[in-house]
Amino acid sequence: MKIVVAKTAGFCMGVRRAVELALDAPSQQQKPIFTYGPLIHNPQVLAMFVERGITVMEKIPPKGSGTVLVRAHGVPPETKQQLKQAGFTVIDATCPRVVKVQAIIKRFARKGFAAIIVGDQDHPEVISLQGFAGQAGHVVGSLEALQNLPVFDQAIVVAQTTQNERLYQQIKTWVGEHRAHYELFDTICDSTEKRQAEVRKLAHEVDAVVVVGGKSSGNTRRLAEIVSESEKCAYHVETETELDLKALSRVQTVGITAGASTPTWIIRHVVRAIEQMPMQTGLGWRSHLLRVQRLALLTNVYVALAAGCLSYAVMHLQHLRPSLPALSAAILYIMSMHILNHLTGRAEDSYNDPDRERFYSRHKRPLIFMALAAGAIGLVAAYRMGALAFWTLLAMSLLGLSYNLRLIPSRMWPSFHFRRIKDFPGSKTILIALAWGVVTAGLPALADAEGRWLSGTLAVALASALAFSRTAFFDILDIQGDRIVGKETIPILMGPVRALKLLKVTLAGVLILLCLSAWTGIFSHLGFPLIVVPAAFWAIIVVHERDPMFSGVQLEFLVESIFVLSGLLAFLMA
Ligand code: SF4
Repeated sequence: MKIVVAKTAGFCMGVRRAVELALDAPSQQQKPIFTYGPLIHNPQVLAMFVERGITVMEKIPPKGSGTVLVRAHGVPPETKQQLKQAGFTVIDATCPRVVKVQAIIKRFARKGFAAIIVGDQDHPEVISLQGFAGQAGHVVGSLEALQNLPVFDQAIVVAQTTQNERLYQQIKTWVGEHRAHYELFDTICDSTEKRQAEVRKLAHEVDAVVVVGGKSSGNTRRLAEIVSESEKCAYHVETETELDLKALSRVQTVGITAGASTPTWIIRHVVRAIEQMPMQTGLGWRSHLLRVQRLALLTNVYVALAAGCLSYAVMHLQHLRPSLPALSAAILYIMSMHILNHLTGRAEDSYNDPDRERFYSRHKRPLIFMALAAGAIGLVAAYRMGALAFWTLLAMSLLGLSYNLRLIPSRMWPSFHFRRIKDFPGSKTILIALAWGVVTAGLPALADAEGRWLSGTLAVALASALAFSRTAFFDILDIQGDRIVGKETIPILMGPVRALKLLKVTLAGVLILLCLSAWTGIFSHLGFPLIVVPAAFWAIIVVHERDPMFSGVQLEFLVESIFVLSGLLAFLMA
């Protein structure tokens, strides 16, 4: 089955910004944390906020403490004032597009203009806009309502940002003909319009569309209506548990879209559930293949194979003869480290990859055994490579095990926040990359009797850079889940757009390093064909930039396969 995910699915810019500010608040602001009214119409997200200690404030108490987050719709200026006077710190998460409309109204209200707001009287955004207009604000929900208003000497006309485009166009035409002295502003946000246009197009291209989002979310329901209007089946679900797998198994191509209040992690759960459907409903070779792929990824056997292949390739690059102990050390250490990572990272996996989280909860003991056994046999393999390789791997293993440990007791320097290695922002991505570099390229170099330190150092840099690209790319896909659990990955610190640019620069560096080192003889001639590896990674990033991807079995498998490709190239060409 082909799955097409709409580009516009999920949070719009304003909602994403508000949710991110809310998620950052518990670690940065005075507690308790409130949102003034529900931040979005999505029960799963609201439940997640409650888990994080963020609750909804419906009415402002006379006195209080903590932080209140104003949602994307904004509030009238007096409400903000009231919150501050009651003793709360206010974080304003009003969408910048709504702020723009508020600013227009405020500017013209000072000059004595009436403000005609085209929108729904009871909508929170309209209430906030009216607050900026004061007595001079008039809300109209239809052309007739506008026609019934008195004629003002001077007035502006603005629309609620999510207003129906067609209605506002009618109003603008009428104002142009009958109230030409009024000033008109185009304030409708194109986010809703684009989302609806895309689902209309998508419905024509696929057999059925799954619309993900809260049942009480107006914009999500509208998406399902648009699909039904095109006579295609629309399945409106809040979570993957509501999917009608039987009905979906009969279609060839399924589209997925989501309302403006649906987080990426819920869309991803739905994508994964549909992607894994053949495993539950089918018996053919595809379902068997998918099962094998999934098991290889969940147990980290495939990522270990990927590390082994990279090690094989970089040994050839360094003019070294690949040895069984070196390959075993790389494969087993990476398997051990990744299993331990997932065993300790079940909180983020419950958002990013619930299937993996369930697998790790269900098979905790055998997985711990597998991680420890792989780590121990890896050390034996390193011992066979020589003392230097053994001590290096032992030091790395201890570093990995102490990652979550409190190294500085809480009694010492109470104001110092970095007590575990884990507390250093971005540390996990960097340490994983370095571990890959050392174990795949560094250990064989250390065991090399001829001591080719230059090619060894460059090979470590190359393998670390490729592993960094891999890990940071997965971090970009996991950004929402990581933010929910308060993990500070590089994409969270830099923002996904800058993180993708950093990955491209890293991959360009790898490509140049391969060419120059192969050309100067520091690396073997394998350096030239190996440029396929960073190029393939680059292609995945470019595709993701154009059309954001959702991680799933196939994408994970594809990314790890790039490393497997390096081993295959080395095998064929060396
Ligand atoms: S729909 Fe547009 S105006 Fe409303 S919150 Fe989203 S980006 Fe902002």
